[in-house]
Amino acid sequence: MKKVLLHICCGVCCASVVNKLREDGYEVTGYFYNPNIHPREEYDRRLGVVREAAKLLKFTLLEGVYEDERWLNKVKGLEEEKEGGRRCLVCYQMRLLDTLRQAKEFGIEYFATTLSVSPHKDVVDINRIGSDLSPMFLSYDFKQGDGFKKTMEFAKEHEFYRQNYCGCKFSMTRQWNAARQG
Ligand code: SF4
Repeated sequence: MKKVLLHICCGVCCASVVNKLREDGYEVTGYFYNPNIHPREEYDRRLGVVREAAKLLKFTLLEGVYEDERWLNKVKGLEEEKEGGRRCLVCYQMRLLDTLRQAKEFGIEYFATTLSVSPHKDVVDINRIGSDLSPMFLSYDFKQGDGFKKTMEFAKEHEFYRQNYCGCKFSMTRQWNAARQG
């Protein structure tokens, strides 16, 4: 069976993505690597939900390092960028690059990300960055086939905590509409 290491941004986003990859014949291992999330309490809260999702959906979860200082250095000078701007491109790239590194270390042939299930993120940017990093990247738009709706239903059913901002401290001032979290 083909294997994929799936970068998971949060538990809310992962259910329909894991199911879609399985339908397409992949054995999924999850990878939580999100040093962008601020503050640490929020990081721990989101990680807790991903652990719960991994148990419910029965996939192995690898956990990355919370290297928030490294993330802050990467986005230096881009603090004032709007959500979806250049800071986010650096943020996607850092997380995907580490997922690629882990996939190689664990001998997993492919890598992918849940990021495209969110209506807040540009799938073209995500797939371009992943594909530029390596041909091992699986380009998907996980919103397709009602992916976002299905993943939200799963989150509601299991009463998952749903964040109302993207993750970094610069995104805390722009709170999402409760109906469009992800
Ligand atoms: S708004 Fe979201 S994607 Fe953009 S830099 Fe912040 S955490 Fe990363």
